[in-house]
Amino acid sequence: MNKHSPAKIETKWQRIWQGKKAFAARDNSKKTKKYILVEFPYPSGAGLHMGHLRPYVAGDVYSRYLRMQGNEVLYPIGWDAFGLPAENYAIKMGVHPSITTKKNVANAKKQMLSWGLSFDWSREVNTTDPSYYQWTQWLFLQFYKAGLAYEATGMINWCPKDKTGLANEEVIDGKCERCGTEVVKKELRQWYLKITAYAEKLLEGLKNLPEWPEAVKLQQENWIGKSVGAEIGFPLGNNHNYVILPGWTSTEKENFYPWLADRLRLAGKTATVYKYKSTEENSEEEVVQDLLTNLNLDENTVLIGHSLGAAMALKVLEKIQKPVAKIVLAGGFMTPKFKDKARPFEKNSELEF
Ligand SMILES: [Zn+2]
Repeated sequence: MNKHSPAKIETKWQRIWQGKKAFAARDNSKKTKKYILVEFPYPSGAGLHMGHLRPYVAGDVYSRYLRMQGNEVLYPIGWDAFGLPAENYAIKMGVHPSITTKKNVANAKKQMLSWGLSFDWSREVNTTDPSYYQWTQWLFLQFYKAGLAYEATGMINWCPKDKTGLANEEVIDGKCERCGTEVVKKELRQWYLKITAYAEKLLEGLKNLPEWPEAVKLQQENWIGKSVGAEIGFPLGNNHNYVILPGWTSTEKENFYPWLADRLRLAGKTATVYKYKSTEENSEEEVVQDLLTNLNLDENTVLIGHSLGAAMALKVLEKIQKPVAKIVLAGGFMTPKFKDKARPFEKNSELEF
């Protein structure tokens, strides 16, 4: 029996497939057309890893299955090659990003070819190629003209080491998912796409995906983050002292807190936005104690709690010896949705979730 030699057999067939352009999809084919798309990889200096291989192999298996069933299959590939990591890598290496990106793409392509995936390489795209990004720019202009792209200042999660903004999902326990550096909040003027205009449509669309796991649909729902908000009526005919308790990981400068405090002050009221000692490690006991000792809460006080602040306000009510004028809870975490994952404040709180 001959010894199995993958290095020999695989390269032999990969060469034949390449020579015959076996996986190039034909535009004018009479067969049923199928389009199988997996997101394009980011060509980092470290090359591709097993996490890349998994989805591409799955797409490959499915594409081959469809071809064997007589379909004309387009299984495309390309490089999602723009981004701050590319710039940071170029700075670190002291080389222009166009050169390092080209090198990284060549290396990743070599790796991918060795996996023998059935991509249509004749349609390979690269997002840093002007003939590609002219369409990204064109799309942006259409969004802009339709009022769906706008510039605004917002607080973002910022990794000081990677010098990049991070999505909420990329911040794990207050640290950068990529490098473990403590994430800070940074005010940044930047462009936004008004995805909120599509919140309803996106939520409706989720209902047409019976084959999606519930957990994934819930993640999407949370990501869409539709919020109906609340209308709050405040008694203004007296001299109440307003104390606003922000949510977890918020500072007094975020969300609606400064706006609300300003409005109340304009109406001649006293308003304080409570400043947590840290935006990460708020222990329930410390916060409640601090509020009771340092904020002169009395029958003149209106406590306004948002998110974590809502729970803290209730905890204060449990401990305080005298009544307060009013308590307002806005968007407290009281819905079953908050059980979707472990929340960092659970470990510092007696609250049961
Ligand atoms: Zn980082």
